[in-house]
Parts: sequence; C-alpha cells; structure tokens
Amino acid sequence: MFYPEPIAKLIDSFSRLPGIGPKTAARLAFYVLRMKEEDVIDFAKALVNVKRNLTYCSICCNITDTDPCRICSDKSRDVSVICVVQEPKDLVAMERTREYSGHYHVLNGAISPMDGLGPDDIRIAELVRRLGDERVQELILATNPNIEGEATAMYLSRLVKPFGIKVTRIAHGLPVGGDLEYADEVTISKALEGRRELY
Ligand SMILES: [Zn+2]
Repeated sequence: MFYPEPIAKLIDSFSRLPGIGPKTAARLAFYVLRMKEEDVIDFAKALVNVKRNLTYCSICCNITDTDPCRICSDKSRDVSVICVVQEPKDLVAMERTREYSGHYHVLNGAISPMDGLGPDDIRIAELVRRLGDERVQELILATNPNIEGEATAMYLSRLVKPFGIKVTRIAHGLPVGGDLEYADEVTISKALEGRRELY
C-alpha cells in the first residue's frame, strides 16, 4: 500500500519464509535494493536452482543433484547400518561429527497428527523397501527429541520389529556447556534414560 509494487512484492515474499515477520521482511527487501545487481542475480539464480536442479535420492530420499546421491553411491560406507533422520539438515549435522560411516534415510518430515501428517506423508514406505536388503542389520532412529520425533521413532520401531533388525534410538541429553539447572524436564528425563555405564 505504502510501498511501490516491486518492493511490496519482495516484502511479501520474504514474509512467507519461516521466522520472518513483517519488519524483518521489510528490512531484507530494502537491503536487496541496496545490493549490487550481480549479487541480486546470483541470489535469484540460487533460489531457482534449488528447485530446478535438486531432486530426492531414489534410495535414501535425501536431496541431491545426482541420483543415487553421493552417500548412497559411496562404496566405503557401511551398508549394515541405516540412520533415520527427519530432514536433510539433520543428515548434515550427523556428517559433521565424522563419527558415523553408515547409510542414511531421510524421512523429510515426522508424524504429526496435529499438523495432519501421518506415516504416508513422509518417506516411510521407501525405508521399509530398503529393509528387504538382508545386509541391513541396524536402524538408528535419530529423529528429533520432541513429540513428533518421538512419535515417529515409536511408530518405526514397531513397524521394523518383524524384520528382525536391531533398532536403536540415539540418546538425547543435555547440550555440552549447558547447565542442569536450566534444562527442561523432557531433556533431563531423556538424558537420564540415555545414561551409560562409566568405565
Ligand atoms: Zn541417497
């Protein structure tokens, strides 16, 4: 209303992003206005390419520009373990630790009755199909430690049981550098649940 059409449209586009309110959207839009034209073009291209040049891996359902993805094609990785995560960014977080060398399965969501998301809305059927491979011996459920993540882990562990595959859940605990005093009950009870013996 108060802004010229192109900037109003950009503000509107930014405000559709998660966590961006109208004030931040306006600030970002005006920032774009002051950016160098070539940088704006690069930014716009990156937005379009993420839709055009990315697909889901036909094996693990991670986002990829090659199918199968690099992890699924990597012969040096352990095929006996599949780590199940909710989002591609969770896979990246796991990879960053350099502690894990098995395979992944990306659900691209979690079961959430509140949001009307059931098992058929995430990549569970694709996971079940992979369990037919007898080399798979363990499934690590690394979904988030919240209601949706726990519900998804619970659902999967029941679903997978008949396959005779070992199902484990990552231990959730207190963040390193955190203070017990400030942790919420769920975090503390999960940390307690995931305790291990000290040697
Ligand atoms: Zn893959």
